[in-house]
Amino acid sequence: MEQGILVINAGSSSIKFAVFGNGDSLEPELRVKGQMEGLASDPSFQVKNAEGRKIDQRDEWPHGSALSHASALRYILDWLREKMGQTQVVAAGHRVVHGGLVYDRAVRLDARVIADLEQLAPLAPLHQPHNMAAIRALAEIAPDLPQVACFDTAFHRTQPRVAQLFALPRALLDSGVRRYGFHGLSYEYIAHKLPDYAPEVKRVVVAHLGSGASMCAIRDGKSIESTMGFTTVDGLPMGTRTGGMDPGVVLYLMQDRGYDVKAIEKLLYKESGLLGLSGVSNDMRDLLTSTDPHAAEAVDVFVYQVLKYLGALTAALDGLDALVFTAGIGENSPEIRERVCSRLEWLGIRLDQTANQQGGPRISAVDSAIPVWVIPTNEESMIARHTRQVLR
Ligand code: ADP
Repeated sequence: MEQGILVINAGSSSIKFAVFGNGDSLEPELRVKGQMEGLASDPSFQVKNAEGRKIDQRDEWPHGSALSHASALRYILDWLREKMGQTQVVAAGHRVVHGGLVYDRAVRLDARVIADLEQLAPLAPLHQPHNMAAIRALAEIAPDLPQVACFDTAFHRTQPRVAQLFALPRALLDSGVRRYGFHGLSYEYIAHKLPDYAPEVKRVVVAHLGSGASMCAIRDGKSIESTMGFTTVDGLPMGTRTGGMDPGVVLYLMQDRGYDVKAIEKLLYKESGLLGLSGVSNDMRDLLTSTDPHAAEAVDVFVYQVLKYLGALTAALDGLDALVFTAGIGENSPEIRERVCSRLEWLGIRLDQTANQQGGPRISAVDSAIPVWVIPTNEESMIARHTRQVLR
């Protein structure tokens, strides 16, 4: 019987999962990938095989039923036992958004670590409690299954101190109010993968453009700066998040417009970004096909901010050897890549239009001073790799 590693990414209303073989290959081999969505209201379950073909689906839970993280995990484990009898899950690796200042690498979970990570919930209130709920639930359902936490912040712990500090009083900085950075599992995956494409590259900016979006400056495989800071709301505008914004706006809205904390949180995380600007959709595909001028303007703002941060990250790196696009928009939208790169002639960047339309991997022209790549990210694979390493 083959051994497998279960990867879990638990959110407020969904649990995404994948199973990888626990073999020795550098890149763990995917067996299945699935998700349970609509936990709070209308659950649906779907699984695909390694080739991306749907192999199972269930939508008919009694209408209006709500599943807890525990019930959803129990269903997933039962499904794996029943349908994947040839693979025995020997460990679970979790995506955990925040590792704070202490956790700079993946860690085996025990009662002490779980308690530590729960203390960090206020730093990531929209994600951490759900990550931890799944960990606790799984510890009850399968107490003997080793569990590992893999952090979105860990890859950024190598950033120089000046990149981590806000200009705040020392006491606040020392108590943990500082820039952490997120999407670290994605950046780490790209940092591992990039030498396959371009072994000579030292200074690279990776643009992880998905419904959550950020950019990272990587030197010699290590993060030195990123656009997300204390929370996942900083930096680029995203599907529904503002991105970086003058904090004075928040004060003004609270003092003069009657916003309370909950209303501010909803505004910053759920009602803004591409959705707020366009009034049409949070999905880049909708905006690119819409005839609404506000949709076009939302795309303009997104592209402009990517350009602006690229300049900042290039300065942090003292120059640039490669630019990489990844995640939903970065991997799938030639138009956005084209709009960004067409304004980078000052850097000597020139696109190969055909390669860009075809999705790369190299999309820059041969005479481009700096190569541009499209590299699909794979956070689940990174989690499986860490889990394997921690257990060995
Ligand atoms: P996340 O993992 O943060 O939920 P993804 O990385 O899956 O997000 O990216 C999802 C986003 O990618 C979608 O909201 C959509 O805007 C964008 N996207 C996917 N395919 C395309 C495409 N062909 N063109 C433009 N945008 C796309």
